[in-house]
Parts: sequence; C-alpha cells; structure tokens
Amino acid sequence: MSFFQDMFSIFKKRELSFIESRKESEDVYSFLFERDKDLTWKAGQYGLFSITHKTIKNPTKPFSLAAAPTENIVKITTRISDDPSDFKKALLELKQEMKVKMSGPVGSFYLQDNSPTLLIAGGIGITPFRSILKQLEAEGNHDGKQRKLLYLDGKKSYIFKNELDEMANHPSLTVTYLDSRDDLHQEIDTFNTLYKNNGKYFIAGPKSLVDSISTHLQNNQISKRNIKKDAFFGY
Ligand SMILES: Cc1cc2nc3c(=O)[nH]c(=O)nc-3n(C[C@H](O)[C@H](O)[C@H](O)COP(=O)(O)OP(=O)(O)OC[C@H]3O[C@@H](n4cnc5c(N)ncnc54)[C@H](O)[C@@H]3O)c2cc1C
Repeated sequence: MSFFQDMFSIFKKRELSFIESRKESEDVYSFLFERDKDLTWKAGQYGLFSITHKTIKNPTKPFSLAAAPTENIVKITTRISDDPSDFKKALLELKQEMKVKMSGPVGSFYLQDNSPTLLIAGGIGITPFRSILKQLEAEGNHDGKQRKLLYLDGKKSYIFKNELDEMANHPSLTVTYLDSRDDLHQEIDTFNTLYKNNGKYFIAGPKSLVDSISTHLQNNQISKRNIKKDAFFGY
C-alpha cells in the first residue's frame, strides 16, 4: 500500500516558495519554505527537492522533512562543508520567494505503533527525529509509551539541542547525547536487553553508520522487521 502511495506522490511535483535560511551550527543550515495547504506528510518522511533557479548537475536530492506536519512549514536541514556541492551552493543562493520543487512525501520512516522505540541519530541524521518528536509533542505524547533518542555526534555540536531538551521534559521521552561509538553500543545494548524484539529500532544518519548499527542489532538477535533505516549518502 505504502509503495503505491509513494509512487503516486513521487510523480506529484510542487513548487515551494523559499522563506529564509537559518544557521544551526558552524556548518549546518536549515532552509524554510512555505507549505501548500494540500501538502501533508507523516513525521519522519522525506521529499525529493530540486533546484530550479539555475542548471546544475544532479539537481534533485532527498531530504528528510525536519518539521512536524503540525508546524505548518517545510524545513530541510543539511550540513554544508567549505567545499560544497553545486546543489548546496544553489541552496545558499536562495532569496525570499525563489522556488524549489519538491516531490513526495515518501518513505516509511515513521512510527507505526506504540511499541517502546529506540531512535538512533548519527549527526545530521537527527532531522527525521526532530519531526517525529515534534509531532508527538504536538499530539501530547498521550500513549505514555517509552521512547529513547540516542544522539551521536563526534563533534558535539548537537543541533536542535535546546528543542530536544525541552521535549525531553516529558516523562515518556529520554534523550541521551553521545560522542563515541562505544557508548552508543552500550546504550543500544541496554535498551535491547530490556525490550528485545518487543521494541522498534529507527536509525538515521550517514550510510556507513546506519549499516554498522543495523548489523550490530541483528547480531544481537533483533529481527530485521523491527529495524527501520534512513541511510544518508554523500556523508
Ligand atoms: C531518505 C534520505 C533522507 C536524507 N535526509 C537528509 C537530511 O535531512 N539532511 C542532509 O543533509 N542530507 C540528507 N540526505 C542526504 C542528501 O540527499 C545528500 O546526499 C547529502 O546531503 C549530501 O549532499 P551533497 O550535495 O553534499 O552530496 P554530494 O554531491 O554527494 O557531495 C558530497 C561531497 O562531495 C563534494 N562535492 C560534491 N560536488 C562537488 C562540487 N561540484 N565541487 C566541490 N565539491 C563537491 C563535497 O565535499 C560534498 O560535501 C538524505 C538522504 C536520504 C536517502
């Protein structure tokens, strides 16, 4: 069913009007766009964004929708290095009311049930989780189920930290900030010991990290069907 929904929405391209960009840390920026009335998504999904104001190689890239549907805005957040790709240079050139195209939303990286859930973010992989947690907050976290976010960032820049700390005031959410893989594995194993295959495991971030955590979980008897992955390439 969701495959057909994705196929349908991937062909639906819409123009989004740029509002502003924000610097989240030394090399991470958010780009905000107006949201059409008929555009909605499930928190955690992504869109395919295309540059249209100039011709570049590879003008279309996937980005998680970092805002919750209830926030009434389209937001993408990305890391931009000193030597950025043409796509990211073009993002930085956007001025108010300039357009990009978006198709989607697509993907199945969203909460589907009320199982205890471990959310594992590697660096910029925090983007879909910001949306998921903002949406839960807007809905009042009423189901009372335990959710734990493990946020690994070797540089300790932890974008969205203030917002996450505020959301973690709710008893059903714990946020743990980590800067080493060993500590991350330890935290994962603690959750795994408690919940095993009664839990759900979401992993987002650079592809190499996502693959290695997924392998670690499977080596610890977590079934593939309880693991959801958003692997960002290009990092
Ligand atoms: C489901 C999904 C969700 C995603 N969500 C996000 C998200 O929320 N945020 C996010 O940041 N990414 C996300 N990504 C990854 C994203 O689509 C890009 O692949 C990633 O941001 C790298 O983009 P890039 O343009 O820097 O990549 P690439 O073009 O692959 O470039 C990688 C690196 O190569 C170098 N490079 C490339 N072209 C040039 C050039 N012309 N000149 C000089 N140097 C160059 C740069 O150093 C650049 O950093 C997601 C991917 C998937 C599949």
